[in-house]
Amino acid sequence: MINISKIFKQDASGSPRLILPLLPLRDIVVFPHMVVPLFVGRAKSVNALADAMNRDKCVFLATQNKPGIDNPRERDINRVGTIGNVLQLLRLPDNTVKSLVEGKSRGRIISFKTEEQFFQVEVEPIIEQSVIEVESDALVRAVLDEFKEYAKVNKNISKELINTISAIVNPSQLCDTIASHFGFKIPDKQKLLEMPVLTNRLALLIKLIRNEVEIFSVGQKIKGRVRSQIEKSQKNYYLSEQMRAIKKELGTDEIGNDEIKELQKKIKRKKMPKEVVAKVKYEFEKLKMMAPMSSEATVVRNYIDWLISMPWYDQVKLNHNLDKAEKILNEDHYGLEKPKERILEFLAVQILVKKIRGPILCFVGPPGVGKTSLAKSVARATGRKFVRISLGGVRDEAEIRGHRRTYIGAMPGKIIQSIKKVSVNNPVFCLDEVDKMSTDFRGDPSSALLEVLDPEQNSAFNDHYLDVDVDLSDILFITTANMLQDIPLPLQDRMEIIRIPGYTEYEKFEIAKNFIIPKQIKSNGLEQTKLYFSKKAIMSIIQHYTREAGVRNLEREIATICRKVAREIIQKSTDTPENPTLENPVNLTYADEEFENDVEHQHDVIKIPSTSLIKYLGQPRFRIGQIEKEDMVGLVTGLAWTQVGGEILNIETVIIPGKGDLIITGKLGDVMKESAQAAVSYVRSRSKRLKIDPVFYQKYDIHVHVPEGAIPKDGPSAGIAICTSIVSVLTRRPVDRNIAMTGEITLRGRVLPIGGLRDKILAAHRGGITKIIIPKENENDLKEIPSSISKLLEIVTVEHMDEVLTDAIILRSSEDRLFDENETGDYGFILEHTVIPQIDEHLVPLPENITTH
Ligand code: ADP
Repeated sequence: MINISKIFKQDASGSPRLILPLLPLRDIVVFPHMVVPLFVGRAKSVNALADAMNRDKCVFLATQNKPGIDNPRERDINRVGTIGNVLQLLRLPDNTVKSLVEGKSRGRIISFKTEEQFFQVEVEPIIEQSVIEVESDALVRAVLDEFKEYAKVNKNISKELINTISAIVNPSQLCDTIASHFGFKIPDKQKLLEMPVLTNRLALLIKLIRNEVEIFSVGQKIKGRVRSQIEKSQKNYYLSEQMRAIKKELGTDEIGNDEIKELQKKIKRKKMPKEVVAKVKYEFEKLKMMAPMSSEATVVRNYIDWLISMPWYDQVKLNHNLDKAEKILNEDHYGLEKPKERILEFLAVQILVKKIRGPILCFVGPPGVGKTSLAKSVARATGRKFVRISLGGVRDEAEIRGHRRTYIGAMPGKIIQSIKKVSVNNPVFCLDEVDKMSTDFRGDPSSALLEVLDPEQNSAFNDHYLDVDVDLSDILFITTANMLQDIPLPLQDRMEIIRIPGYTEYEKFEIAKNFIIPKQIKSNGLEQTKLYFSKKAIMSIIQHYTREAGVRNLEREIATICRKVAREIIQKSTDTPENPTLENPVNLTYADEEFENDVEHQHDVIKIPSTSLIKYLGQPRFRIGQIEKEDMVGLVTGLAWTQVGGEILNIETVIIPGKGDLIITGKLGDVMKESAQAAVSYVRSRSKRLKIDPVFYQKYDIHVHVPEGAIPKDGPSAGIAICTSIVSVLTRRPVDRNIAMTGEITLRGRVLPIGGLRDKILAAHRGGITKIIIPKENENDLKEIPSSISKLLEIVTVEHMDEVLTDAIILRSSEDRLFDENETGDYGFILEHTVIPQIDEHLVPLPENITTH
């Protein structure tokens, strides 16, 4: 071994200098006291080692400041390095060299001498500066503590190393040994090498070791977490493999698999919007992970089934031929000219714009007038499929829009259910009874409907269950309602109202003859039979067995007859061996004339005269409102409008001794009660002109009664009738029984217009009335009355109550006068007189006991 101190030369200043070959190191710092193996491949480095071997084996080991440089220059080499000895040199066949070097002492490059073959440098040794022992001892102890701490967390530090290090007494050697064994960063190691003052070096070492402990324990933590994650996924894998094996044993795996495969095929085949495809795929992946028999899997499978069974793009081809559409509409329904015309206009616009535009059609009218069947007919006329839901009684928004999937047993709403059922996305969708929805704490169904019906919004209808947008814009929505005022206003706003009023008896007869009877004959299997209804029989069913604005009950009664006839035929055919069916079926189903005999069964001909109705339908159920047989005091024929159409109303009044109470009986609406009160006040205010005892109200109770009381009669339209009835009683003059009247009065006797005139006039005509008094302001409505009826009636229009009384009250003789012409009608005259006037002699005295008629 060479003694380095011997080979140092003295320079002029006396400090030792050494000319040494330089071995540049890439990624290692060699500390004094350390023996390290080096693999040397670069030519210059090999040359440097060879030079050292030729001389005194002494070499200067300095680290490059950039490890990546292959051919370092002066600037790339740190100035401070280690003077070392080459202990061993072994040339390998590929011209590289394996060597063992030992660090001796720190040195600094003063200058570079040559650099062609290898670097030769002039080096001066760095002399360690002396330090205060106590300080260095304390630091050494701290270094050792830190080191032990590190050894505790890093199990890779061997016991031998710990022992070796603990045994070192020289603090500088200790520092270098630890530094070289730790995986510090190269710049940190270089810093440790470059520090001449030991205490500083020890302090830096402590910091670096502590840092290392920190990094190591964080690393351990991360490793631990990663390991537990890996372990968990391995566990899952293992368990699911086991589950599969168990399922295979149980034979349930196959079922699940088949179903999954089948579902996958379905999903692939179905054309769906992008958003839906993404949703289906997501749910399908979830389903695959689930046990096939679990309840969660059923929920997910149901949901996927719903999504793939919706008709996203399925449509039927539409009929764009308007003539054909018109023909179909006429084929299906009698009359209804206005609605049909409006429907055809609506369809024409759609054909032109190729899209459903404009408001939703809403058919409003009494039950059984053909609203729903007209919607069905629109479907047939346009070639669309038909689907219908009833909104009657719907009070929960979820019924329209579905429940969220989080609820157990959740389902889509009625809209989506119906679309799935009809399996195309362009049907006619009939929403029946929009006026019968109600609102409560479960939300407002009409607001959900708004979204459905609004063409601006319904291209992206979101059902809570499906949770994807559904395009409803190709659906032709039609709504129906009985009462316009019961439809929520925002909904009305989106609709075009088409009114379908009640039918006249004549219209009902035509409908029965041409539509209902042929239909019922067909649906009761009587096509092969000659079944005739006489005209009188049909009329009798209309008048005595039904009371309605539409024809639903009429249809029901005719169906009953057909059913009974069918039974008779079958029973007869089992009695006689001969089959009674005809070879040539005949469509004629009614005869104008009445049949002479009772029900006639002649072989295969069955005739139904009006007399046979009792046999088939039982006793007549209704007595149509008929005029009375004679004119009576206090009995007036009023006209009311109900949900089933117009009706004749007999209003009776009597006066009885009492204290002036107004008694009103019969099933009357509130408005009608107020009408009666107004009528009494009017009569009181006009008592002088009417020559009535002005204090009648103090002596008598007035009792107004409306006998035909099955249906609440609302609306103020009976005002003039009640008033006439009261005046008739108070003046003891009868009322013309041939007159019916409708109109409201004000306190001053003005007659105000009323609604439902058409139906009322139809009812009056039905009841045999010949003269009708109506408010003048209703004159315009007379256009709606079929001329076949209006020509049979005398219709009087009035503006004032006096005109009504003049027309309706029958005078006792030609000299008799109802009014005192000198009194011009001083309404409320009692107010002007502080003293109640004495009863004049010429006033008709009222009898004490009044008997009713
Ligand atoms: P709504 O919906 O108005 O209550 P529907 O549409 O159910 O009434 O009609 C009841 C029955 O009356 C149906 O069988 C229908 O075909 C028949 N009907 C109603 N009006 C007509 C008409 N104008 N022509 C032919 N049949 C009619």
